[in-house]
Amino acid sequence: MTIQEKYGFKKLINARGPATILGAARVNPSIRADISDMLGESVEIRDLQRLASDAISRLTGAEAGCAVHCTSAGMAIAAAAALTGDDPSRIKALPDITWSRKKIIIQKGQVTGAGDCPVWQVIRMCGAEYIEIGEALDCASFHLRAALDDNVAAAFYIMEDTFAPNLLPLETFVEICHEKQVPVICDAAYLTDFQLLNRLGVDMAIYSGHKWLGGCTSGIIAGRRELIHACYLQEMGIGRPMKTGKEGIISVIAAIDQWLKRDSIAIRAAQAQVSTEIICEIDGLPGVSYRQMESAYSPSVRLCVEIDDQTAGTAAWEINDALAREEPVIMLDDYYVNQGRMIFDMAFLDPGDGTAIGRALRKCLTGRRRDESAGAHRPVPRPRQDILYDWFNDWMDRR
Ligand SMILES: *Cc1c(COP(=O)(O)O)cnc(C)c1O
Repeated sequence: MTIQEKYGFKKLINARGPATILGAARVNPSIRADISDMLGESVEIRDLQRLASDAISRLTGAEAGCAVHCTSAGMAIAAAAALTGDDPSRIKALPDITWSRKKIIIQKGQVTGAGDCPVWQVIRMCGAEYIEIGEALDCASFHLRAALDDNVAAAFYIMEDTFAPNLLPLETFVEICHEKQVPVICDAAYLTDFQLLNRLGVDMAIYSGHKWLGGCTSGIIAGRRELIHACYLQEMGIGRPMKTGKEGIISVIAAIDQWLKRDSIAIRAAQAQVSTEIICEIDGLPGVSYRQMESAYSPSVRLCVEIDDQTAGTAAWEINDALAREEPVIMLDDYYVNQGRMIFDMAFLDPGDGTAIGRALRKCLTGRRRDESAGAHRPVPRPRQDILYDWFNDWMDRR
């Protein structure tokens, strides 16, 4: 009996990658075994955290590291650590800040989601005075210099593909912040180069333990020793409701071990095979083009399938909706579906999943077509977060 049959939830083919709302990574058996053994033991958590710190240093090159519950928790905890340092009275005081160094700044063009919640929410929950600099599409060094007064406790930088084309490069951002001794906190949940941020002098970098590292729900803060020390101390304060347990900490350690000895060539070869399965089913269909894509935000083989909705008679977002109603459910990286692009990430697909996806695509693309000439109603796509809200909102009643 599968776990789906035992508990009655739907099987899911995950071509999106490690999305938190899809259960993030499919955790491999060796990490699962360590988590399982850990659950049967009692342990001093600070012992585990010290070992996690060593493992995080090996992964990132940073002086120290701390395991946290997830990336967004890590962002809040890193912000708190920058505000309080290791002063216990300050740690206990948050979110009330009675001292003057309480500003946290971010470029306006980087105000994305910390996952599905806005970045400003995880910053402001610590009580910080939150300040956006620059404009939606631009931020210049003069914006940053003007904002860096004596009351700035930290500056956030988000490592994500955004549409804003003219923001400060991380190198410049760090350099200017460091002229004023302001620490830089980096959200790097999806980043695959774990050494880059330490090399560039980022003071606290936050990674996901349950995305590319492939562990259970967890996060990592890597950075300067005294700041990381202050991060762990937040468990006596605002970090308490965001703490990670022994299972999360051992998962971070085990996942780092796995990552450092993975055979990426063999992994990519297996993924390329699954990608070929998709291509075999859709090659030559009218209105469909595809290309393999590389991204700094995924180590996987990713296939971008582009739909020209005039020729195909259906739009990418309509196909995306249909795939979500398949059994098993098929989920893809649908961030750009309203622009006609569907991205399939092979990280968590098994052999044969590509064929299932390809056939479902073919069914949508060869099924009933919209009759444009008859002036048929051409539906308009909905914003991503409206759909996401419905998805969350449905949870209790959906069968
Ligand atoms: C996924 C993600 C987060 C949130 O990660 P969680 O671990 O689910 O909290 C934050 N920032 C970015 C850029 C992400 O991709």
